[in-house]
Amino acid sequence: MSGTVSHPSSSCEFIPWQLRRDDLLYVMLPAGHKGLQVPGWNKICNGMRWDNPILSAHIAGGGNYGMYPGPGSSLLFVDVDDADFFHKAGGDRLVDGTYRYSAWDDRHKYRALLECQDIPNHFRGHKISVRDADQRVILELFFPANNEKTGGQCVAPGSIHPNGNRYEPFDPDASILPVSWDSIQEVATAINPDAIRETIPDIKQQPRAPGSGKTLSERYGLSVMDHLPDNPYMAGPEIRGAHPVHGSTSKGGNVAINPTKGSFYCFRCGRGGDAAIWDAINRGIIRCDEPYDDDAFKKHAEVLEHERPEVKLFERLAWKKRQQARGKR
Ligand SMILES: [Zn+2]
Repeated sequence: MSGTVSHPSSSCEFIPWQLRRDDLLYVMLPAGHKGLQVPGWNKICNGMRWDNPILSAHIAGGGNYGMYPGPGSSLLFVDVDDADFFHKAGGDRLVDGTYRYSAWDDRHKYRALLECQDIPNHFRGHKISVRDADQRVILELFFPANNEKTGGQCVAPGSIHPNGNRYEPFDPDASILPVSWDSIQEVATAINPDAIRETIPDIKQQPRAPGSGKTLSERYGLSVMDHLPDNPYMAGPEIRGAHPVHGSTSKGGNVAINPTKGSFYCFRCGRGGDAAIWDAINRGIIRCDEPYDDDAFKKHAEVLEHERPEVKLFERLAWKKRQQARGKR
């Protein structure tokens, strides 16, 4: 909006200058609410820019609004649920001086915005919590959206909390400061030192796509992050939580995934594998405790091919090209 005279209903009046960025997407929240139940709200195609006149009118009319970092953004939203615990674990150094806001006078809960250039890609499109050894949520990390959806939005400053308080910035002039992913991991580890232990045994089974020499996961670009555990939390290199299909009775959750290794492990069933097996379980093609046999493979490959026909088409085209190149020699 720079260079133009600000219209009375322009969002410039409501949206802090730090948040008028092209890599942030906005959603309209009902007055006094901090969440949104409308289906599809989390798709980036439904996200609005900060200067969208519909958004401006909504905020001017007393509505709340939420925001999330869009695809390609390096912004990281930290939702601090227990400021004392977070600060004792070294979190105060992480967020000191950066743009923060809270709906509580004593700031025992608040949000901090950070710029993190080296967020691991597999976190994009997700929201993951950090818990202490007693499984209490100390903070939640809101990662930038992937090309399709966001893992979660944060109610924005100036909005009204359900308790009637307004979300106020700590310092209205504070900028969004940089942070490294390592320092975030350090604090997460300090919050729950037990969580750094790797628990997933080596992958035993990786289904291969016939003919192509690739695994099914490689062929379809499957990731164990495609299906997150319920209430996911960071545990060193792993993400743990409750099994999304058969649930968990233990409060710490019973399934772990390792996005770097591309593996998962269910502690209840004693079952592990790669992203393809994890995908088959989550789609209900096999039960968590059932073997991934030839029948399961056939069924799974059919489902994937039906959903992503272009993968085989591209493979066929590439094969043809190679044949033609050979013919010309
Ligand atoms: Zn299981």
